Amino acid sequence: MSDQAAPSPAPAKRPRPKRGEGQWALGYREPLNKNEQSKKDDNPLNVRARILNVYSKRGFASIDPADLRGRFRWMGLYTQRAPGFDGGKTAMLEEEELDDEFFMLRVRSDGQLLTAAAVRALGTIGVDFARDTADVTDRENIQYHWIRIEDVPAIWERLDEAGLSSLEACGDSPRPFLGSPVAGVARDEIIDGTPALEEIGRRYLGDPEYSNLPRKFKTAITGHPSHDVSPETNDVSFVGTVHPEHGPGFDLWVGGGLSTNPMLAQKLGVWIPLDEVAAAWEGVISIFRDYGYRRLRSRARLKFLVQDWGVEKFREVLETEYLQRELVSNPSPPSPVGHRDHIGVHEQKDGKFYIGIAPTAGRVSGTLLVQLADLIEEFGVAGARLTPYQKIVLIGVDGDRVQPLLDRLDAIGLSGRPSQWRRNTMACTGIEFCKLAIVDTKNRARDLVAELERRFPDLDTPITVNVNGCPNACARTQVADIGLKGQLVMSDGEQVEGFQVHLGGATGLHANFGRKLRAHKVTSAGLDDYITAVVESFLAERTEGELFAAWVLR
Ligand code: SF4
Repeated sequence: MSDQAAPSPAPAKRPRPKRGEGQWALGYREPLNKNEQSKKDDNPLNVRARILNVYSKRGFASIDPADLRGRFRWMGLYTQRAPGFDGGKTAMLEEEELDDEFFMLRVRSDGQLLTAAAVRALGTIGVDFARDTADVTDRENIQYHWIRIEDVPAIWERLDEAGLSSLEACGDSPRPFLGSPVAGVARDEIIDGTPALEEIGRRYLGDPEYSNLPRKFKTAITGHPSHDVSPETNDVSFVGTVHPEHGPGFDLWVGGGLSTNPMLAQKLGVWIPLDEVAAAWEGVISIFRDYGYRRLRSRARLKFLVQDWGVEKFREVLETEYLQRELVSNPSPPSPVGHRDHIGVHEQKDGKFYIGIAPTAGRVSGTLLVQLADLIEEFGVAGARLTPYQKIVLIGVDGDRVQPLLDRLDAIGLSGRPSQWRRNTMACTGIEFCKLAIVDTKNRARDLVAELERRFPDLDTPITVNVNGCPNACARTQVADIGLKGQLVMSDGEQVEGFQVHLGGATGLHANFGRKLRAHKVTSAGLDDYITAVVESFLAERTEGELFAAWVLR
């Protein structure tokens, strides 16, 4: 394999600490763990050619293990969990022992408007190559399962024709970008971030300079006042704001991330105009590449650097070493306004309407996406966007077609007027396909929603429920009203699937992490009754207008 074209180091060197954390800018260029070694051995982007020219032709057994469990991720491919291993095996077996010969494939949408043709392409890929699977993820991706390596070239060809890609959908790379699902159409939008998102994609996706980061790097951009891209939980976020002198632009936040050491993103206190967002993004990702910690994977996220440096130093390094200019200070960025999920019918600035629709916990299917593409065509809809809440927003619906379209959407199971439970429940991949999972999530969430709809049919306030299969918090455990972290719990002397409960987490105006109470562990089988008891207490004790998280934190 060829040597990796190593990205250039940062210009200035800082004092080298006694025991380095693998920061390139401090001179630690020798790999300190096997992940770093693998990236140095060969640029992960090179695996694309081997998939096309070798592995897809010779089959699964021909795949170099270093590609299979490492570099494949840069192409959006992970081996999925082999059937038959329960959650107790997750910690006991090596990851490769849980490998199946099938793959999960993640396709990034990056906030773009998906035309009927694109939605149809996504659907038919599910039908033809993925046993009809397709999930909407909370990173605005479509995620497939049961993919064979032999089919990957044909899938990529179809994605390419539809203007879509799985490039860097996983791996230590610029992961899929979150864009506002209502960019360019919402009446109350501060600024449309679409040009900046497109420019970042055009300039930097697949660029070897940014394909060997310490770990994943998550981006979010929105100009909507609700802050609808969960900016608190991304490595870098650009959030619409109006500067008193300079007008609309973006507030820059850095260092958000959940998992086992959750941290909310912090505001740098600067204002970035639309045409400078891409350069500022490059500055932030370059700081991460050069100064990010590479010794321990558990410390290799930007949030740890931001925590250690503080925002003042981060801003100073960004300005002096990477942008070579001072940024405009932004004295009073706005607080978020309104609900973020865009569910239901909303008038656009051009007089048309957008409709947010809710699959249950993000689960759709190839067939359902094809049906959705049919409706988009039949009703003359401009297209669809995916949301960070595992939902879909249809853009550009004529006023006189809203009602008949809602009825047809209901008929295929994609409601634009869902219950509070269906609207506010998310679930990660879970034990069905994820090798790190301890418990089932998607099916559990589906059954939970059905049962809570039966028990609380008229719930009049949002209560978010995020179901996660392990501590990694892919479905944002810590920022839900009821956050569920999958683990084994004891029941009648036996270990069974269950959850640690986090109560009262939130993003937005009252952003904070949910309380983790030692006693709040529940078996998966007992989840319906546990949530019922908590919600009944809330409904009995709440004051007028009081939200669930505020009640928990009283
Ligand atoms: Fe897998 Fe855990 Fe992430 Fe769920 S939270 S998708 S189980 S790694």
